[in-house]
Amino acid sequence: MRYRASALGSDGVRVTMESGLTARDRVGVQDFVLLENFTSEAAFIENLRRRFRENLIYTYIGPVLVSVNPYRDLQIYSRQHMERYRGVSFYEVPPHLFAVADTVYRALRTERRDQAVMISGESGAGKTEATKRLLQFYAETCPAPKRGGAVRDRLLQSNPVLEAFGNAKTLRNDNSSRFGKYMDVQFDFKGAPVGGHILSYLLEKSRVVHQNHGERNFHIFYQLLEGGEEETLRRLGLERNPQSYLYLVKGQCAKVSSINDKSDWKVVRKALAVIDFTEDEVEDLLSIVASVLHLGNIHFAADEESNAQVTTENQLKYLTRLLSVEGSTLREALTHRKIIAKGEELLSPLNLEQAAYARDALAKAVYSRTFSWLVGKINRSLASKDVDSPSWRSTTVLGLLDIYGFEVFQHNSFEQFCINYCNEKLQQLFIELTLKSEQEEYEAEGIAWEPVPYFNNKVICDLVEEKFKGIISILDEECLRPGEATDLTFLEKLEDTVKHHPHFLTHKLADQRTRKSLGRGEFRLLHYAGEVTYSVTGFLDKNNDLLFRNLKETMCSSKNPIMSQCFDRSELSDKKRPETVATQFKMSLLQLVEILQSKEPAYVRCIKPNDAKQPGRPLPRSPGQGAAWGGAVCIPPPLVPRYKSLCPETWPSWAGRPQDGVAVLVRHLGYKPEEYKMGRTKIFIRFPKTLFATEDALELRR
Ligand code: ADP
Ligand code: MG
Repeated sequence: MRYRASALGSDGVRVTMESGLTARDRVGVQDFVLLENFTSEAAFIENLRRRFRENLIYTYIGPVLVSVNPYRDLQIYSRQHMERYRGVSFYEVPPHLFAVADTVYRALRTERRDQAVMISGESGAGKTEATKRLLQFYAETCPAPKRGGAVRDRLLQSNPVLEAFGNAKTLRNDNSSRFGKYMDVQFDFKGAPVGGHILSYLLEKSRVVHQNHGERNFHIFYQLLEGGEEETLRRLGLERNPQSYLYLVKGQCAKVSSINDKSDWKVVRKALAVIDFTEDEVEDLLSIVASVLHLGNIHFAADEESNAQVTTENQLKYLTRLLSVEGSTLREALTHRKIIAKGEELLSPLNLEQAAYARDALAKAVYSRTFSWLVGKINRSLASKDVDSPSWRSTTVLGLLDIYGFEVFQHNSFEQFCINYCNEKLQQLFIELTLKSEQEEYEAEGIAWEPVPYFNNKVICDLVEEKFKGIISILDEECLRPGEATDLTFLEKLEDTVKHHPHFLTHKLADQRTRKSLGRGEFRLLHYAGEVTYSVTGFLDKNNDLLFRNLKETMCSSKNPIMSQCFDRSELSDKKRPETVATQFKMSLLQLVEILQSKEPAYVRCIKPNDAKQPGRPLPRSPGQGAAWGGAVCIPPPLVPRYKSLCPETWPSWAGRPQDGVAVLVRHLGYKPEEYKMGRTKIFIRFPKTLFATEDALELRR
């Protein structure tokens, strides 16, 4: 599966032609590099189309598995399917996610090297489903550990809980992940899963208080209202009807036909027990979920001095109880701001707008911190219990990356900016790990490198993250000028600094024709996957992510055990300005890239066939906006570096012209003239079988 010429031995040559092609699917080619014109995007898409029509959703491009979302259950993930892919060579069986799963697992076991499966693709393309299938594969096929067999259940059951709190219906996907997730599964020396660890990335917390039309808040709210027992709802002071809650009505679509909140609720309740929640903890957690809904219904009226007063006493009463805080403290914190000037504390009353802002900020902070706490709680439950045993020390890890996909809406804001930046970063990593490593390999082999045309998106990453000049830096700079800076001054500064960048445009910088499509408060980035226009409204606020001091103090005094872990008093005495949201995100992405770089990579690239989320439609001839099907297309098969060990004349390296080397190699391998065609620097192999046989030979030598 991977091109790793350096790992090959040097003795003897054995070529086997025995193992025939057992591949069932002869529709299209199952590995795109087997297509004659494999660098053409049109040919790539045509091949995918042909296969997709036959429900063959998986295709390889060299080491990358491409997966097209069928939007229906194809019955291809059963236990039998798992068995079929276990222990067989990659090339003997039709492409499948389980083939990747098994190859990665075997590499982990035999080479004892950490692995990472990177799953990418736009929102709704099938990343999260793929991650779940992979986990299921490992949970079902790997040997059970001697102790702590429960870890398998925990690995699986962490999912519904995280999805309930971190996923939501968007216009792109009814179950869209609104956080990024990287999960390590730890295996002992026998190959049994013994533990796990999750890193989560930037939850889209603005969703807690606002949803665009046609979208929902996080699933958990609807699940609780729909599925919660009478008794529970009574305790929490909740009504069943989502329409009663202002935080749930903004998108005007509480019901979604593809989602069954009631049965999902049952799944989540069971899952919580599996990941070690006590009944008390479940109660505490639900109290917090309910408190967010009550917060949303807190209403203010202005007194004669235009100061905000809470008018919804009932909500305040429930909040006080659910969050276990003093009623008077909470009331004051919702309507006043504490300022410390010259060592003295001053209470300044808030007007209506400020009070609503403070309330929403509190709701977002409570929810997002609870989410982080939840991840921590799951990690404690997944932690290997055998830390002192020798098997722990020899664990290897298999990482699964499922991060929010590239996203374009009618209206794009700070959240899309962060999400799309993250996708640029991962695309950059992908380019570095595949194309660059191959290029280096060619160079090391002394073979002329014919650059394959591909777009290197490093310029966009730089545009976003560069020190001083990058968009994040400029945004942070503006965040340091409270009272003076606004979203629009940020935009102006941006225009001044990155004027002539080929991937950046604003109303002012655009030519006459383009100007019409750009509003004055917008900037446009030309991402690797397409154009996205961002509205700067809210950028400063969301990046600052301010929570007034007295609200923090109130929460620090909470007797709800989860809240008191989420709000720590040390935060109050910390004089240093906390990092901005974008900068924190940037740093966490850098760390993620490091983690991924330290592992042996495997790739799954998911493709969304249509925007209607519908099965049975043909794949269009060209990718829709933002789909970016390409990007993975350009992987030349480095034939000599890969197969040189199969021929004494090309081993350990070929000194002559590369095309001569290939000629010598294929002659030695016994390729018949009709089976291949020599290009100038590449060879095109006509029949998959020929290459499979060569692959088998390679496997034998490992
Ligand atoms: P992403 O995580 O990339 O945004 P999801 O994995 O949530 O997308 O997929 C969106 C929806 O598409 C899923 O809820 C499911 O209905 C469907 N889907 C995705 N992958 C598959 C698959 N392999 N087989 C069947 N349906 C799928
Ligand atoms: Mg997802």
